[in-house]
Amino acid sequence: MAPSSAARVAVIGAGPAGLMAAEVLAEAGCTVTVYDRMPSVGRKLLMAGRGGLNLTHSEPLERFLPRYGAAAARLAPLIEAVPPEALIAWAEDLGQATFVGSSGRVFPKALKASPLLRAWLAKLQGLGVEIRTRHDWTGWNAKGALTFATPGGKATASPDATVLALGGASWPKLGSTGAWAEVLAKAGVAVSPLKPANAGFDVDWSEVFRDRFPGEPLKGVALTFGRVRVRGEAMVTRHGLEGGAIYALSADIRDAIAREGAARLWIDLRPDARVEELQAKLAQQPANQSAANRLRKALRLTPLETNLLREAHGKDLPSDPAALATAIKGAPLQLTAIRPIARAISTAGGVALGAVDADLMLTAKPGVFAAGEMLDWEAPTGGYLLQASFATGVAAARGVLRRRAAS
Ligand SMILES: Cc1cc2nc3c(=O)[nH]c(=O)nc-3n(C[C@H](O)[C@H](O)[C@H](O)COP(=O)(O)OP(=O)(O)OC[C@H]3O[C@@H](n4cnc5c(N)ncnc54)[C@H](O)[C@@H]3O)c2cc1C
Repeated sequence: MAPSSAARVAVIGAGPAGLMAAEVLAEAGCTVTVYDRMPSVGRKLLMAGRGGLNLTHSEPLERFLPRYGAAAARLAPLIEAVPPEALIAWAEDLGQATFVGSSGRVFPKALKASPLLRAWLAKLQGLGVEIRTRHDWTGWNAKGALTFATPGGKATASPDATVLALGGASWPKLGSTGAWAEVLAKAGVAVSPLKPANAGFDVDWSEVFRDRFPGEPLKGVALTFGRVRVRGEAMVTRHGLEGGAIYALSADIRDAIAREGAARLWIDLRPDARVEELQAKLAQQPANQSAANRLRKALRLTPLETNLLREAHGKDLPSDPAALATAIKGAPLQLTAIRPIARAISTAGGVALGAVDADLMLTAKPGVFAAGEMLDWEAPTGGYLLQASFATGVAAARGVLRRRAAS
């Protein structure tokens, strides 16, 4: 049987996953109502736009898919069905031409989300999608109807199918609080604990360092945790370290801290130079100079870098050029805790992938589908978060349509 054009579908959560599900469902002829607890939609997408809106990544799928770690096998068919090229074509169809940055990341040329979101909402309106903001979904009532808290009091809805796309729990002021985890757990859905992903870490800086260097970047460094070495930038904060290179290692470091209480990160301040080269340059400086002067004159270490060495190796840096060069190539920092989930870029944990079928329907709640960051997957920054949010939104919508067709 063809999907019923009269099917009424509720999509809860108006982020990338929910809006994408709404588009696919409305295009198939469903009557779609999108609910969101905030006064306006797509707030996290707009925030992602502040960083240029890294939509996806241009690398081939055999490199792309393993970025999802333990969830890669489950997400693979969904992303293969909506690969980066499809997402790029979709954005271009909304008038948002894209380009591939030097790192292989894909961005809209506008380098922001607002024109894309505006065009997208106009398209959804044209498809007849109704958007109801200030509707905070609170669960189901005894009759199985969806319940919402609204400024005007309680509201209910009894659609033919529901897509939940409620996001993770990072940046809660943008709308996604993770409050759904308790509601779903009570409904018998397995939910893995929500954890920060792509987040910074606490370092027990000395008082002097903590007051002097927050906001200063460590540029062009190499960070090593365990066997993984990452080149990039890290930012010093009052609490510790943030930034792209830290985020890239953050899942492994988070899990190590959970196991062992702390984790040791190694910083190489001059990753392009060998120890012997650094040693030779340091040896050319007069031995009676202070370590800070020798580091500045021979190797252009900034005050931040020199003081970071002191944080790592102790106040008295070695005077021997070989030992000093070795210290620059490997400065150990003790990371004591991951920053709170509210400050993280994304969320790990969520609806267990074992709790949904191949169409992303909750097996404990037939007719209810889940999409986006609320599912239990995580990935580094680089466009992988939005790509999976969009692809799972499409998958959940197609799941709704398949179920309707089969009924
Ligand atoms: C600062 C920042 C920058 C980022 N930059 C990038 C980037 O460049 N590239 C990238 O790939 N990813 C980026 N991300 C991550 C990306 O934005 C998210 O992964 C993506 O938005 C998740 O989409 P989603 O639809 O699953 O959830 P969300 O975008 O979080 O949307 C969920 C929606 O559900 C609503 N909601 C939640 N609970 C309820 C409820 N009970 N009732 C009703 N509505 C509810 C929320 O209000 C929200 O609108 C960034 C994130 C942050 C914080």
